[in-house]
Amino acid sequence: MPARDGGLCRIRLAWGELSAAQARAVAHASRSFGSGLIDVTNRANLQIRGVTEDSQEALVSLLVGAGLGPVTPGSDDLRNVMSSPLAGLDPHALLDVAPLVFTLIGQMQRDARLHQLSPKFALMVDGGERLAMLDHPHDVWLSAVSAQRFVFGLAGCPPRFADHMPALAAVRTGHVPALVDALMHTFLDLAQPWQTRMRDLLTTCSIEEILGRVQAKLGFALDRDVEDWRRPVSDARLRFGVHRQGMGDRVCVGAQVPLGRLEAATLSALADLAPRLRMTPWQSVTLLDVPSADAQPTVEQLAALGLAANPDEPFARLIACTGSQGCAKSFADTKADAQLLARSMPPSGDVHLSGCARSCAAAHAVETTLIALAPGRYDLYGAAPEPLARHLTIEQAARWLARSHLDA
Ligand code: SF4
Repeated sequence: MPARDGGLCRIRLAWGELSAAQARAVAHASRSFGSGLIDVTNRANLQIRGVTEDSQEALVSLLVGAGLGPVTPGSDDLRNVMSSPLAGLDPHALLDVAPLVFTLIGQMQRDARLHQLSPKFALMVDGGERLAMLDHPHDVWLSAVSAQRFVFGLAGCPPRFADHMPALAAVRTGHVPALVDALMHTFLDLAQPWQTRMRDLLTTCSIEEILGRVQAKLGFALDRDVEDWRRPVSDARLRFGVHRQGMGDRVCVGAQVPLGRLEAATLSALADLAPRLRMTPWQSVTLLDVPSADAQPTVEQLAALGLAANPDEPFARLIACTGSQGCAKSFADTKADAQLLARSMPPSGDVHLSGCARSCAAAHAVETTLIALAPGRYDLYGAAPEPLARHLTIEQAARWLARSHLDA
């Protein structure tokens, strides 16, 4: 995709995972064919920035050779399935969703009709892990209620509170692939050309009509008695620090990538610390399969590489979109402004700097959002739709945040 700083190459990763060898391949590709900068996206994918026009073929061939491409041409976008960064690793999860996610991705890639779906059409498969991004809206979400059963919903996320849109129905775990197939084909049966997402379809089609058509495609009954189900809340701070990985003597170690951007050399260095890496929807990284004896030295090495290993550090609490360096829509250089703000962040609170009102860097709710109006100038928002302060410089925003921290 074209961007202000050159071509942008998105690499989709199943639950954000890549092997150390694949991470080195991405770093090499970024140095050879791009600007040497790699973004971690809020869907736990990677993006190589600054790709030169004449190198696209060689870049794609290198990535596909490293096992980072789709299984069939044209199906790359169908791998838009999110699950927990701790999928298959969290001893508290209800089940390991990895085999199910692989089945779904394979099934969707092989079905040529599904290649018509928008690249943004997204699924979530939730195994009940303690760490899960539950605020991203998905076209279809599925959550385990036990190892044997999943509930699902459309155009939203798993409900945690009474005012959230409830789950629609439940199916047995073994029926999930058939359900997803029926949901996607029903979407394509009903959607007009302008309706690229499930939320668009719901403006002209009722849930009941969609579920009726889905039911007609299935050889088993949807269980509609699920209205009261609520998803236990997730703890986003589990993306930091050291956590036991399954039942063995291995741990995973997580840290925040400052402003979601890695240099190729940093990604290579991360690959030297662990055999597997997982990117997360918080634009952080979790190193997997680290021997427990190496846990503390690994935390120190992450900090030495410039990652925020402690959730209270400024760069653990700051998000900035691409900004004017890479996005033509941006009114400000959000990444540079965030670097400035990091020097005077109060000791608590999350802040998101957005170059325009689209706010595409954070699909989840953030305590404070700064939306750019002009270079170095931002409106400041809390939870309400009206701004709390207008036209602030970064220094003024920092003072506003410090005052509100003291008042809290
Ligand atoms: S939020 Fe706006 S300025 Fe920032 S990357 Fe998205 S479209 Fe560009």
